[in-house]
Amino acid sequence: MSEQRTEISSLGEFGLIKHLASKIEVKNASTLKGIGDDAAVIDIGNGEVQLISTDMLVEGVHFDLTYLPLKYLGYKAVAVNVSDICAMNGIAEQITVSIAFSNRFPVEAIDELYLGMREACEKYNVDLVGGDTTSSLSGLVISITAIGKAKKEQVVYRSSAGEHDLIVVSGDLGGAYMGLQILEREKQIFKENPSVQPDLDGNDYILQRQMKPEARVDVIQFLKELDVVPTSMIDISDGLASELFHICSASNTGCHIYDEKIPIDAQTSMAAIDFEIDPSTCALNGGEDYELLFTIKQADFDKIKGNPHMTIIGHITDVYDGMYFIDKQGTAIQLQAQGWQHFNS
Ligand code: ADP
Ligand code: MG
Repeated sequence: MSEQRTEISSLGEFGLIKHLASKIEVKNASTLKGIGDDAAVIDIGNGEVQLISTDMLVEGVHFDLTYLPLKYLGYKAVAVNVSDICAMNGIAEQITVSIAFSNRFPVEAIDELYLGMREACEKYNVDLVGGDTTSSLSGLVISITAIGKAKKEQVVYRSSAGEHDLIVVSGDLGGAYMGLQILEREKQIFKENPSVQPDLDGNDYILQRQMKPEARVDVIQFLKELDVVPTSMIDISDGLASELFHICSASNTGCHIYDEKIPIDAQTSMAAIDFEIDPSTCALNGGEDYELLFTIKQADFDKIKGNPHMTIIGHITDVYDGMYFIDKQGTAIQLQAQGWQHFNS
């Protein structure tokens, strides 16, 4: 190692991954896609591929056990990994689970965690086939690897969006972020006055969006039934703006999205207004909705139009046109990818 010291925050999470990836060489012809998408793609012959994705959740960074019960955490940890396989237009079939925990956790706690994981495995028809168990000096760390399958010609990458393609999102956005704001607020109130009961009334939908997100396996199925293969796809873990950046930079395109088209649930909007946050900002920069963001050919417009699970929010443009968010007044605002910057203090 040289004398030089570069702070990781100067690169950011994505910059660091890019930096590492630039030095890694793919040697096997079976590795169709290495670093850089929601999952790696491995050729297993007969026109089929295996999809592999890993996600790690760290206590105090990704979850807070004061308001997220271990059972929910287990469910969420599985769901977010299954979501990455969906983002490749594949079906998850197995997971491995690695955990590290301190002696703060009794067997009963680990049982609760696994109860949630088993529930998610049941829901998504996934087998838990292995993992690793070790100790940590502080807190809980969970790393899950999901393994899935797809037909080779049906795999959808981030990098294949084309000019004039339509931009589509599933479900609605910003709810998970507002759910987190509610939980944080109640935690703060509880800290100041432990006798006050949490007031979570009327926020059940956004709390569920935060605490029990679902992988959109159903959307992958709908797309199959509609005979639509997206031209590009990614799951929304870091907010719409950040994921659009990934698609546009991987595909070397620009985009226009329209504020008035972005699907936001009424409960999300009401909570946002309560917190004096613009609801669109929650959709653009909040995280953890785990909806799918994808692009389709204009020829597929009629198949998607009016579908209650999917909303067309804009279109892909030439890279020189840039990335723009058109607000309700019609003003074009350059998109900023804020997302979660893990390494910024
Ligand atoms: P996602 O948000 O879909 O989980 P990430 O942003 O975590 O994706 O990762 C983007 C890409 O970088 C993926 O291909 C992932 O496998 C890869 N990646 C992330 N961290 C590392 C690492 N430490 N070493 C090698 N590859 C990594
Ligand atoms: Mg992803």
